[in-house]
Amino acid sequence: MAARRRRAGLLCFLLFAASAPADAWNAAGHRLSAAIAWREMAPATRAAAGRLLADHPEYTRWTARAPAGDADYAAFLAAATWPDDIKRDRRFHDDGDAPTATLPGFPDMARHRRWHYADHRLDDGTRLGGGELDRRLPQLIETLRDPRASAGERAYALLWLLHLVGDAHQPLHVASRVDAAGNDDAGGNRLWVETPLHPRRPAMTLHAYWDDLPGPPWLRGERLEAAATMLLDAAPADVPAGEAVDDAAGWIAESLELARSVAYADLAGEAPAIDARYHDRALAAAKTQIVRAGRRLARLLDALSPATDVSRETVSRETR
Ligand SMILES: [Zn+2]
Repeated sequence: MAARRRRAGLLCFLLFAASAPADAWNAAGHRLSAAIAWREMAPATRAAAGRLLADHPEYTRWTARAPAGDADYAAFLAAATWPDDIKRDRRFHDDGDAPTATLPGFPDMARHRRWHYADHRLDDGTRLGGGELDRRLPQLIETLRDPRASAGERAYALLWLLHLVGDAHQPLHVASRVDAAGNDDAGGNRLWVETPLHPRRPAMTLHAYWDDLPGPPWLRGERLEAAATMLLDAAPADVPAGEAVDDAAGWIAESLELARSVAYADLAGEAPAIDARYHDRALAAAKTQIVRAGRRLARLLDALSPATDVSRETVSRETR
């Protein structure tokens, strides 16, 4: 039994990527949530999202290799990882650095690294001040609701929303552990853990470990679809009954609770080891969160969809 359990643990770790340290769910997590959302969205919502993303300057590149009839879906998946992709794109600049040239169709050229997280103290939930995730989510939803927003602004808001709903479901994007001296670990980015079950990397930060739980960042195509189906079968993860479609504060509170009960549970001292028991619990929580993010995105976009359609037409006429 112990040997089987250990083998299962190793297999799970083989799903990991030997990726560079990241600061978000890796691309697999965002694509999986987007794939699940797409399956659960109403057909009219998919069409509206496709029309909106077609206004984004990257649409042609995103859809260049998409199978016939799948362009909108390809754009939707690509949009979900775009806020991470621009961290390596030299056309964009870090906040506070000299701005890069504004290109046509982009509301701004900043990378907005702080939008991806919102630090809270693990022990008492006090907001630590780092990150803007909690503020940006309601703003992006508001932009999509706003009939005066331009098509370009709304396309931009949609892709950021696709991405940040995923980040809000990663427990280490909303929590940091603070030591007795008052130093916080930046969402586990400064806490190294030993990973004896990992086939290639004996140690990594706790944050990188969680980012990579969803699977390898190159997960695409048929394998992505198979993984999304497996996730839906394995982690039904219904959204709590009666939850508001735009309850971003609720999603963040839930992730903070998971940071306490799973992500930081039983990790004491310097460089604690990730054992099979911890890994099983973490993987189960990550799967549930990816499915929840996808379901919540679908509900939210379905609710926003009618406004999306109407206002785009209105704006096109008014702004010309
Ligand atoms: Zn992110």
